[in-house]
This record gives sequence, structure tokens and C-alpha cells, in this order.
Amino acid sequence: MQTLFLYNTLTRKKEEFKPLNSPLVGLYVCGPTVYSDVHLGNCRTFISFDMIYRYLTHIGYKVRYVRNITDAGHLEGDRDEGDDKFAKKAKLEQLEPMEIVQKYTLGFHEVMRAFNNLPPSIEPTATGHICEQLEMIKQIISKGFAYEINGTVYFDVEKYNKQFAYGQLTNRKLEELLEGTRELGGQDEKRGRLDFALWIKAKPETIMKWLSPWGWGFPGWHIECSAMSSKYLGDVFDIHGGGMDLQATHHTNEIAQSQACNHKAPVNYWMHTNMLTVNGVRMSKTAGNGFLPVELFTGNHPLLEKGYSPMAVRFFMMQTHYHSTLDFSNEALQASEKGFERLMQSYSTLQNLKASNSSDEDIKSLQEKCYEAMNDDFNTPVLISYLFEAVRIINSANDDKIKLTQNDIDLLNSLYQNFVFDIMGLRTETENSKSNDVLKQVMNLVLDIRAKAKSEKNFLLSDDIRNKLTDAGVTLKDGKDGASWNI
Ligand code: AMP
Ligand code: ZN
Repeated sequence: MQTLFLYNTLTRKKEEFKPLNSPLVGLYVCGPTVYSDVHLGNCRTFISFDMIYRYLTHIGYKVRYVRNITDAGHLEGDRDEGDDKFAKKAKLEQLEPMEIVQKYTLGFHEVMRAFNNLPPSIEPTATGHICEQLEMIKQIISKGFAYEINGTVYFDVEKYNKQFAYGQLTNRKLEELLEGTRELGGQDEKRGRLDFALWIKAKPETIMKWLSPWGWGFPGWHIECSAMSSKYLGDVFDIHGGGMDLQATHHTNEIAQSQACNHKAPVNYWMHTNMLTVNGVRMSKTAGNGFLPVELFTGNHPLLEKGYSPMAVRFFMMQTHYHSTLDFSNEALQASEKGFERLMQSYSTLQNLKASNSSDEDIKSLQEKCYEAMNDDFNTPVLISYLFEAVRIINSANDDKIKLTQNDIDLLNSLYQNFVFDIMGLRTETENSKSNDVLKQVMNLVLDIRAKAKSEKNFLLSDDIRNKLTDAGVTLKDGKDGASWNI
């Protein structure tokens, strides 16, 4: 087994990965809240953990990867303020909350498939685990760390902090955290400013509600993940992941809930992916700067110059380390698209390389460097720099500037198979590349005719071409260098 180091948010150090029960590994990642379409930022987190899951599996671990679906109980504010996201959206779209859940779960799966993310081993839903959540809440109450007021159950953060340290994950003391939160008002039922709801009393109009020892209600968002992770991975498990935005509240509260129950820290390695930003601002639904994957694929968005294939976008994400911020721009995406094409072009070239009797290159040590990069906290940008070294070698051999043996060629093929396809999860764009080539040529012809019509001011014809293409499912986008198209 490879010696793997990963950055642990809890200790703020890169640590050697030692699973509790090797070769088994338990991995839990907070999944989407399915009240709207996932944006590209969400996708970055899921693509990063897909790569991590793929690598752990590649080096021989048997990973149980649990990624939940949050389908109830997520209020607008992380600390139980505001409306229920599902109820609000259901009203807006005039659908049942469960129709909202179904619609956006299906959409999420479609996006995951487009990006070639592997399905997790288990994808539990919060609504399917209400009993487990109720049991956990009862246990927290019996240990003295939660209290009920008027049908809502709150976690008592200050009491918990007397016995355990709250806020360890972000290295903050309770006093600092208290300073950063607003004073309780007369409206508030909870006792402490940092207290959060484990169970929330249903309002008369609430549709998604369950009967509990405290009356009709629904679970808090944080207890959902604690209950589902411990059910499938045990009270203590190896890796828990999510985006960095979840560290301070959601994950901090997950630790508190589990520790209150079992008196044990639930997770050995906390891993957090950094944010996808647009002009330095975190991409989010509330900031209104969230690209939908489909907008990116079609280029149908005012900020986009053209569309990009899912694999070019995945490659764009792999070019930045998961722990660094990644800023979205047309230029960066175009550069990634070119890089991805070069990488794939050289794979085709490799298939036709002729072997020599002697070798000018050390492919074995290149392979070792690729593993070193991945063992250093999944460093995909460094890995990619080595893969471009392989591209240079393949192209030089193709130009008869260097010689490669059959063994070298086999090693280069396995370099692609392992690192490009299996670990980074990239794939050649279409299975049927011949018909794709023909389509490309036909489309070039159509676009040329349309450009000619436009230059002759025959807008009737140019608009007719656009409309008929739209009917056929082809989106055109006029840019400064002419028109581009996407299916
Ligand atoms: P949500 O559906 O809002 O609960 O988010 C699902 C996942 O996406 C969580 O792990 C978030 O941390 C992550 N996430 C949200 N916004 C971004 C972003 N801009 N960049 C990367 N990950 C994000
Ligand atoms: Zn979670």
C-alpha cells in the first residue's frame, strides 16, 4: 500500500493516513440540499471527493463512500433562522416539497454522471433516517446536553463546552465565537446564543413533518449527517469531507452532537475542499453568481463566451489543488480546454507509436513521481505537470526525435489508464468519435454558410439556420471570433 499524506483540518497538519481498520476505509461527504439545481461550486466539491475516492480505491483500499441527500430540515440560516428551504421552494414552484426533492435529486444525479463522478456506495436521505435522528436526539438529551422548549429541542453549546472543546475544527474558543454572534432577543426561545436546533417544531402549515416525543416537527440539518454517518460508518470513522464553508457551523455541530452521545471524537481526518469563486467572490445560490453546469456546457450565460465540455471543466478543476481557491474565468477555462485536448491528442498518438529496440526515457521514474504527487495530499496539479512530461515524450517519439521500447509504450499506456482515466476520472469526450468528427465538419459547413449569409445581409437565412438548429437541439452562440455551437 502507498504511504499517503493528507491535510487534516482538525489538526491543521498534513498527516500520514492510517485507517482504523485497513484496508477498509469509511468516507462520509455532505451531499447536496436538493431544493434547487447544483451550481458549479457544489460540483467542485463533489468532483474533488470523487477523485479522492477514486485514488483511495486505486491504491487498494476498500472504501465505503457515503454521500447523503439533504431532503428536509435545512433552514435558510445555518443557525436555524429563516424559512425551510424546501417549503419555500415548493410554494414558489407550486409543487409538493417531495416533488421538489425528486426533481432536484434527479437533476443532481444527471450532473454527477455528466462529470463522470462515480456513484457513492450508499446515498442515504435525511427523510429515510428520521428514527435514527430521533434516537440520537434522545441520547443527547439523556446525557444532559440538549433541552426542549415548546416542541423544539436545542443543543446546549455552553454546557457541552464545559466538558469538551466546542469550535476545535476552526481553532476557535467559545468566547471568540460568542463575540461573533448576535445577542438573544425577546423572540428567541433558546438559552444560549450558539445553541442550535436538533429538532424543530412544525408550524401548522408545515408539510414535511414527523411525530416525535416532542410533538410534530422535523430534524435540524446537523443531526441528519451525524445520524447517517454513524449508522453506516460507525461512531468513529476515517474521513469526513465537505466544502470549507461547512467547517465553522455544520461540521463543528456534527462533532459536538456525536461527542455528546459517545464521548468520542467521531472522525479521524476532516477534509475540506476550497471554494470555487467568480472574480474572487464565492459561488453561491444566494450571491446569484452560480453557474449551472448546463449553462456552462451550452455556453448559454451572459458571462460565458462559449460552451465547454464536462471533461474540459473537470480537467480545469483538477488543475488546481482541492485545498486552494479556484477562480472561474473564460480565459482559464479556454486554457484548460486546450490542455485537455493536448493530453487526449497525445493519447491517440500513443496508440500508433512504433517501438524501438532501445529507450531514451525513464518512464518508470515518471510513474513514481505521479504516485508521489498523489500521495502528497492528492496533488493533482503536480500530477498533471508530470502527465505533460509524458505528452512531450510521446510527441517527441512520434516525431522520431527519441526512441521508446514496447515496455515504455506499455508503461505510458498504463500511466494514462491509471492517472488520467481511473484516478482523475477523465474520459474521451465521445464513445463514437468518428460520427463526432463528421458532425464537427458538417457544423463548420453550416456555420460558414450562415456567416456568408450574414455578411451578405441575408438575415432571413441566417436567422432561419439558427432557429432550425435550435429546434434540432443545437445552441449557437455568436462571439467576436465568429459563432460557436453546442449540443
Ligand atoms: P449545499 O447544497 O449548499 O448544502 O452544498 C453542497 C456542497 O457544496 C457542500 O459541501 C458545500 O460546502 C459545497 N459548496 C457550496 N458552495 C461551494 C463553492 N462555491 N465552491 C466549492 N464548494 C461549494
Ligand atoms: Zn453534512
